[in-house]
Amino acid sequence: MLALALAAILMLWTAVLLAFAGPLAARWREPMLRHPVLVIESDDWGAGPLAQADALTRLSALLQRVRDCSGHPAVMTLGMVMEVPDGPRIAATRCTEYHALPLADSRFDNVRAAMQAGIGAGVFAPQLHGQCHYWPPALLAAAQSDTAMRNWLTASDPVATENLPSPLQSRWVDASSLPSRALSSESIQQAVAAEAASYQAALGSVPQVAVATTFVWNDAVEAAWAQAGVEAIITPGRRATCRNAAGQPACVDATMLTGERSLSGQTYLVRDVYFEPALGHVPQRLVDGLQARTRQGRACLVETHRFNFLQALDASLATLEAGLNLALGACPNVRFLSPLELVRALQGRDPAWIETRLMPRLAAWHARLDEIPRFRRVARLSGLALPLAWLGRAA
Ligand SMILES: [Zn+2]
Repeated sequence: MLALALAAILMLWTAVLLAFAGPLAARWREPMLRHPVLVIESDDWGAGPLAQADALTRLSALLQRVRDCSGHPAVMTLGMVMEVPDGPRIAATRCTEYHALPLADSRFDNVRAAMQAGIGAGVFAPQLHGQCHYWPPALLAAAQSDTAMRNWLTASDPVATENLPSPLQSRWVDASSLPSRALSSESIQQAVAAEAASYQAALGSVPQVAVATTFVWNDAVEAAWAQAGVEAIITPGRRATCRNAAGQPACVDATMLTGERSLSGQTYLVRDVYFEPALGHVPQRLVDGLQARTRQGRACLVETHRFNFLQALDASLATLEAGLNLALGACPNVRFLSPLELVRALQGRDPAWIETRLMPRLAAWHARLDEIPRFRRVARLSGLALPLAWLGRAA
């Protein structure tokens, strides 16, 4: 009788494991890191408000003050935007033609110098965000019927793209009306080739890491990025390819784990901790994110944005520095890496970074299972959660 019951339970557990085999195996294959890793990812820098120069200089000094146990300073990525609208020239055409004010313009000398100083000091890691934080024809189309849009597009000072309606901040769809319409592969290809060239002219190297504005992109974008030299793509763990009727990112056609490859061969990274001091996020949020990712054997990629440092510079700097120091206190062996260094470690299965021992891998795997939709509930109901928890603890 007991043997029968035992056999029934084992069969039930086997059935559960088989039903979830795909996501369970993917989380076992996903590389597990030996050390806590923290990367601050910051988007929207480049052409835009001139106050960025001061913000970047102070950020660079802050990051250089915070060092990991190997002496490496904290690293912040700069998601780069290469142009904003040239308001007066657009105004002269009554919003029928788009003209750009590029980052190379002398008005941005101080912004570029502040970036270069931080890159030289090893605290800024630039990556491609886009030639601009919008699709220019979509802005012109929207401006035909929208006064606020016309005013924004024709402003005399370099504008902040944060002030655009969110759907129009997506570069790789036409969201001038909703739901958005897809762009042709040819126009995507041409646009990426052009922006990679201007990125190289400004920063001296091809873009190796890309992060799509508002996380809306598709296979055609990835293929064009691959041709331009992009090896790594920052994702939120899923890919939205459109804006729906309500203007939200939608048409999700793929989900991804760190280390998985795109169709074009790029390595995906996942950035899923949000830290926006100007929205009230406290320093402890950084620590919580780092500790949770560390238990999962994952790097902690923290998303933040320029607006924090334009709208509330002193307070945002203080919160960021407190968060980094708290993270160092909570995880003294944390390492600061750039996304590209992380990708190289993953691709090379570098034994200095990648865990290969069975028991720590089991613990990290167990910590990843709760995120699988429905698995947690099914595991609890079937009793499978017990042996899994034992595996996770034994490690
Ligand atoms: Zn952005």
